Amino acid sequence: MHRLYENEDITVFWDSDRCFHARRCISGAPMVFSFARKPWVDLSKGKNPVIWKTVKLCPSGALDVVYNHGVRVVFEEENLRSAAYDGDRLVGECDYSDDGESFSILHTEVDPEYTGRGIARRLVFRTAEAAEKRKKKIVPVCSYAKAALESKTPGPS
Ligand code: SF4
Repeated sequence: MHRLYENEDITVFWDSDRCFHARRCISGAPMVFSFARKPWVDLSKGKNPVIWKTVKLCPSGALDVVYNHGVRVVFEEENLRSAAYDGDRLVGECDYSDDGESFSILHTEVDPEYTGRGIARRLVFRTAEAAEKRKKKIVPVCSYAKAALESKTPGPS
């Protein structure tokens, strides 16, 4: 399962397949991370430096975190994509097709001016999250998306 948890400044990635329940997140910031609650991550319950430090203690790579750099990432079902915006400017997108059973992630692209900020990974996770919430399979045709969903460090994004 892939999820994103965001506040104004940071985005936390969660890949449940990688978690081996070492629970360092829960001991590091118990108000923010709790397996007894849904959603299990609530960024409003902690300060960003503490959340950041705690996420970086995760030994499995199930959790990761990036700064938002003022860029919003939204799922746009009507456009078959997730899109990244800096204000009104479109600065990245992750396109998919939907055959009714699965989302095929076809292409992920970020404006060269905005690379290196984790935006592509946020786009892929946002699309994967949307697929999972709709009980669809994910087929990562895009090589970047495949790497982002399987690895903690898919490369510059
Ligand atoms: S620290 Fe990482 S591996 Fe441990 S429970 Fe939290 S998410 Fe899972």
